[in-house]
Amino acid sequence: MTERITGHTELIGLIATPIRHSLSPTMHNEAFAKLGLDYVYLAFEVNNQELPDVIKGFRALKLRGWNVSMPNKRLIGNYLDKLTPAAQLVGAVNTVVNDHGVLTGDITDGTGYMRNLKENGVDIIGKKITIVGAGGAATAICVQAALDGVREISIFNRKDEFYENGKRTVEKINSKTSCRATLFDLNDTERLRTEIADSVLFGNATGVGMKPLEGQSVIKDPSMLRPDLIVTDVVYSPRQSKLLQIAEAQGCRFFNGLGMMLWQGARAFEIWTGKQMPVDYIRSLPFLADDTKKGSASSAR
Ligand code: NAD
Repeated sequence: MTERITGHTELIGLIATPIRHSLSPTMHNEAFAKLGLDYVYLAFEVNNQELPDVIKGFRALKLRGWNVSMPNKRLIGNYLDKLTPAAQLVGAVNTVVNDHGVLTGDITDGTGYMRNLKENGVDIIGKKITIVGAGGAATAICVQAALDGVREISIFNRKDEFYENGKRTVEKINSKTSCRATLFDLNDTERLRTEIADSVLFGNATGVGMKPLEGQSVIKDPSMLRPDLIVTDVVYSPRQSKLLQIAEAQGCRFFNGLGMMLWQGARAFEIWTGKQMPVDYIRSLPFLADDTKKGSASSAR
């Protein structure tokens, strides 16, 4: 790494709190090195109070771009010059690009989720899916699925501070796309069962299953998952969440969040550099283990 950093090297950032666990710095730096691109990618722990100063600093330093994660994803749009249509619809930003001083916010989580399904031969276009979650990740997934042509989405969330956001997401999808979305209370387990029953895919898009909620699952009754159902989880640490353990036991094909993470990063990489991320090479590196490889035991059975 030190051999390749010179006075010309440009910085790409990642802001969030907490962020030290992130795989993104390894992924992007490996990709830059592989393609001989003169960038370095570093993570910065930033809270929402510090956000305006950080954006001002990044502007002054003329960073080419940066990624954004929680808790900064929803607020950062206020400090940017432009938002892509997807970022406007989702109401969150995970990728910023600086084009000669103009900062544009985009969201690549939803395209990452959809691309991972496509790469693994899963077709949900024109079909019905059920998703749990109404936060940033869930909104990005549901909006992108609707934009891409999914016919119907049943969204479940517990009645917490995210429920209102779920209502707004449903309104946006129903008014701006041809998809039909409906929001339900996650506590309504009988409704959850019937909505999953005629869906081709069930996805968890909450942090349930990772620390501090590791060992927990949004599905308590395994019989809700039938063998021909595709099951996805945004969680990738642990690689096989409690939900995915249940899915495996029920004979379902299942995917953890690594593929989504990889493809959201690949799209951000392309936005900053104009080049395709060497995805097959990145997937072969030990830090991603074998989980996102097509046909591997745990992500695509
Ligand atoms: P967020 O804070 O915006 O939303 C949190 C969501 O979790 C809400 O829907 C909330 O109601 C729900 N929730 C929280 N605790 C719950 C509980 N005990 N029971 C039921 N629901 C609960 O967070 P986010 O940005 O949407 O992130 C959610 C998860 O997605 C995180 O684990 C994050 O790491 C992961 N994520 C993964 C990727 C990826 O590429 N794989 C990308 C983005 C986010």
